[in-house]
Amino acid sequence: MIRNEPITDIEWPMSTEELGFDPNELRAKYRAERDKRLRGDGNQQYLATEGSFSHFVDDPYLEETISREPLFDDSDVIVIGGGFGGMLAAARLQEVGVEKIRIIEKGGDFGGTWYWNRYPGAMCDIESYIYLPLLEEMNYVPKEKYTRAPEILAYSRRIAEHYGLYEHACLQTQVTEVRWDETSARWIVSTDRGDRMTARFVAMSNGPLSKPKLPGIAGIDTYRGHTFHTSRWDYQYTGGDSDGGLEGLRDKKVAIIGTGATSIQCVPHLGETAEALFVFQRTPSSVDVRANRVTDPEWAANLQPGWQQERMDNFNTLVTGGYQKEDMVGDGWTEIYRNLTGILPVDGAEQLSNVEIARLTEIADFQKMEGVRARVDAIVADADTAEALKPYYRQFCKRPCFHDDYLTTFNRPNVSLVDTHGAGVERITEKGVVANGQEYEVDCIIFATGFEVSTGYTRNSGYDVFGRDGLPLSQKWADGPATYHGVHSHGFPNCYFMGMIQSALAANFPHLLNEQSKHIAHTVHQAQQRGADVVEASAEAEQQWCETMRSKARLGMRFFSECTPGYYNVEGNPDDKNGFFSNVYGGGAAEFFSILRDWRDEGELRGLELK
Ligand code: NDP
Repeated sequence: MIRNEPITDIEWPMSTEELGFDPNELRAKYRAERDKRLRGDGNQQYLATEGSFSHFVDDPYLEETISREPLFDDSDVIVIGGGFGGMLAAARLQEVGVEKIRIIEKGGDFGGTWYWNRYPGAMCDIESYIYLPLLEEMNYVPKEKYTRAPEILAYSRRIAEHYGLYEHACLQTQVTEVRWDETSARWIVSTDRGDRMTARFVAMSNGPLSKPKLPGIAGIDTYRGHTFHTSRWDYQYTGGDSDGGLEGLRDKKVAIIGTGATSIQCVPHLGETAEALFVFQRTPSSVDVRANRVTDPEWAANLQPGWQQERMDNFNTLVTGGYQKEDMVGDGWTEIYRNLTGILPVDGAEQLSNVEIARLTEIADFQKMEGVRARVDAIVADADTAEALKPYYRQFCKRPCFHDDYLTTFNRPNVSLVDTHGAGVERITEKGVVANGQEYEVDCIIFATGFEVSTGYTRNSGYDVFGRDGLPLSQKWADGPATYHGVHSHGFPNCYFMGMIQSALAANFPHLLNEQSKHIAHTVHQAQQRGADVVEASAEAEQQWCETMRSKARLGMRFFSECTPGYYNVEGNPDDKNGFFSNVYGGGAAEFFSILRDWRDEGELRGLELK
């Protein structure tokens, strides 16, 4: 149990008069808002999209179902996942000369999260110039500062074509088991299509938010109207496309449950055409200015080699609290650190203690969130609706959102915010949704309720991995993951993990995937150069990395324990062993990336055993 700091006996470096708000009052308000949302069932409150709910994950985007014979062939590397991680791994492996790469992907095409998330208004609010991978390699500059989902999906296909990934891809294929064969020193990968493919190496990039979840609301299975999850948008029903124009909803009453980053983007389009839209809110998101703009062609033409990595590093350093002379991206993500710089003393900042810096950071956070709340008042006409839309928690307690049309949507006469004061939807009936004791009859319920997280690695990926002596990964990691550098695990030779398992938290997630891809390519290449069939982390190296993680990883726990519940803090249980952030390197992404880089530069493959 993490003890929270007291609210009142704190010495703030500035007075209430100077600040224009009382930090103690805000702290108390934040805590009260958190407390009213904490619930005993935590992460158990959600339903998996399995069994009688499995139709929620049927693929609505497939043009045709591939029919093929099972495969029993051999590759150098099998990559699981055709999202950015899988594509990056394949690209970096090709760069070091690995040729036979097979990608297995359950979707009908490459793109991962962007294959599935095609809801109206879907776009990425991390700047496109740092988010889209391989821009220099692909000689591509995105059309806008914040790119829209169709461009990302098209770009994913372009990467797959450029690197020849379609040739050996197994699309519409779900891995069911990955098993190490000691005799051949190869992995055997089985799938739901009866494949039994082998490979010397396997790399897994399953995606952290790939399994849609539903709220465990009483009566959810009794509803008779139309319903779907945002990650499987039913355009046949709504009409329109990613740009909106949902003409099918003109005569429909629609409920959307959830107000996270996805809902923020699709609500404006729903509000535009639905006869009536009810937005069911449990916790408001923080919605800041987006200010998208078209890419300046002159700027694009003058980019110098190495520009993308430089820009990614610049952003990453700033959002992990480091210093950079210039803020290249200069948006809402980096703003909190710009604010902090603004309130740090011009002289003597380096002499501040950690506690003093923490206080100043908290003040900068209060200021930022006061701004976000003031924006709601400035935009939303109805005072009660405006009040209900104000987020009372620290900026990074939940995924910050950026949108210029979300709040204005609540000024439309056909749109109603149904705020549940933290309690959530009460019940679903045959006809609609019950909240605050009132039933709302609707033709359609859209679940914008996010994705399953923190339920364990193998459960989330949908298959187990059997290492040396048949040891299941689910068993080895029963008490939490154990890796070396987040990519290797002892007893699982030639096997690479990608994502946030004992690695870094990067606001720009593809940055992490790129660093991991380079690392994987390096070790595979080194193994091949040294004539080794097997590369495996030593038990000692793994133990040391776990020790490093333990000493660093819990740095953010106190912060998350103060936060309103959500998937960032396992619904109020931030110290859960499988928590979204429980296994990230506490020293920050910039430090983590340099650990990997220095290790590669050292050239000794320290901690790995080659056979
Ligand atoms: P989230 O998990 O962020 O949001 C789920 C929403 O459902 C929350 O508002 C939650 O409320 C609500 N909810 C859950 N149960 C109930 C209930 N019983 N009654 C009422 N409401 C309920 O999912 P999203 O799909 O919005 O976003 C997931 C992630 O995807 C984001 O955090 C982000 O990382 C990523 N994303 C990124 C985008 C980008 O621009 N790059 C765009 C969209 C998504 P509560 O908050 O109270 O739990």
